[in-house]
Amino acid sequence: MTKTKVYLLDFGSLVMDGYMMFWGRGPGGPFRFPTYGVLIDHAEGRFLFDTGYDGGFFAKNLPFVTIDQSARQTVPGQLDLIGLRPRDITHVLNSHYHVDHVGGNHHCTHATTICHKCELEAYDDPEPWEAMGYSDRSLSGASGADDVSDRADDIYTPRFELISGDARIAKGVTLFETPGHTPGHYSLMVELADRRPMLFTGDACYTQRSLEENIIANSHSDVKQSFASLERLRQLAEQHDAELFYSHDPARWAEWKPAPYHYS
Ligand SMILES: [Zn+2]
Repeated sequence: MTKTKVYLLDFGSLVMDGYMMFWGRGPGGPFRFPTYGVLIDHAEGRFLFDTGYDGGFFAKNLPFVTIDQSARQTVPGQLDLIGLRPRDITHVLNSHYHVDHVGGNHHCTHATTICHKCELEAYDDPEPWEAMGYSDRSLSGASGADDVSDRADDIYTPRFELISGDARIAKGVTLFETPGHTPGHYSLMVELADRRPMLFTGDACYTQRSLEENIIANSHSDVKQSFASLERLRQLAEQHDAELFYSHDPARWAEWKPAPYHYS
């Protein structure tokens, strides 16, 4: 059996105010942060965790956000670095359905989309203060779309598999519930043959500083759950001797190795 490989896919960067990144703490001012996805090349499938943002969508609908994304920093561009195409992805997993994590889902026309049922509910009927976070509607109308038998190959009609609770997705690939940033937020752990497990926090923890100084994001659906999820991540890392990979940490990102390099 082939060894599981993990690739970090670079989807470009965004700029937010420091007070949005570090709620109540700042400092304020522009804070540029990376967005990335995680490709798990596994004997049981090719799993893609988070797909970044859609630059065209941002330019049109969120023009006040500073973006920096080349054609290479997209799902097709990053997969091409390792000789794959979007149709090779068997499963898309998303930490949550905010605009900077689902923007490339629509490229993966052949994938099953695994989603926490609470997240899809929040996305389908967002609270007013969540509407911008969930404003990429490329997944909309999909919750009842089981029948995709006659879809054209290149049209994106997400085929959802709804889950809840912690979930083993494949051998050594586990989603852990970490709600608070959004109602159905997941973090992901991947166990590999030759190194410590990789624990991808998603937006339950933007940066290493967030964990060390106990700071949550300005964007949250539930304050207490957000802090509980930070604590859960600490405990999971300790329990599994896992290395933490934060979602939007420019300093750590600069140290990690993006595709075509792989971890195994
Ligand atoms: Zn994010």
